[in-house]
Amino acid sequence: MSERPCILIVEDEPRYVRLLRANLESLGYEVASVATGQEVERDLPALAPSLVILDLMLPDVDGFEVCERVRAVSDVPIIVLTARVQQADVVRGLKLGADDYVTKPFDMEELLARIEAVLRRSASASVRAEDQEFSVGDLMINFAERRVKVAGSEIPLTRTEYRLLSELARHAGRVLVADHLLSAVWGREYRGEYRSLHLYVSRLRRKLGDTSRSPRYIVTRYGVGYALRRPGVAGEPVAS
Ligand code: CA
Repeated sequence: MSERPCILIVEDEPRYVRLLRANLESLGYEVASVATGQEVERDLPALAPSLVILDLMLPDVDGFEVCERVRAVSDVPIIVLTARVQQADVVRGLKLGADDYVTKPFDMEELLARIEAVLRRSASASVRAEDQEFSVGDLMINFAERRVKVAGSEIPLTRTEYRLLSELARHAGRVLVADHLLSAVWGREYRGEYRSLHLYVSRLRRKLGDTSRSPRYIVTRYGVGYALRRPGVAGEPVAS
């Protein structure tokens, strides 16, 4: 995993992008930027950012819609930038899954403080998730002890296999695109290495006594990625 958190800026006004990029880079963040809603959907899986700063006024797709589409595939924290001061807009943004909002023109110090607060919150949320156990069918993962059992027997997994399984488990019921998994488990420079991902998934399946044809745990969505079944939910995981 990349040690510097990547922040994705979605903004079509170059002066805001420059300003944000300069400030965030000086604080040690890695920064990527796109100017349209379409580019967000295209680049989000591969970038796997730690945070998205989303301007609501984009040239192609409405920012609210972008927010909704991001939420459909990712839990990444979103801070919305809005020139519209109406409370209704803000509430709508938060309902669609934004974590916080800042009204333009914004005070840079305030925005940076919000970014750090949102990143802190999401880091502590994942720590809490690590404490819990996850189980679906006969499969049980104990995140605190990093142990995996199937029907009560311990399954020895390599570090990478464990990381892959726990990434799927943390997003159970959701299809994770291949590039997201490669980024999260191996690191961002491994994006595009689909063959090794498939190999690891088959090895993991074998160890868990699972098959691709009638999967009990890991489901393949061809051309997209993989999902771990959610406890208590039969059938296919939700769409990617
Ligand atoms: Ca704009």
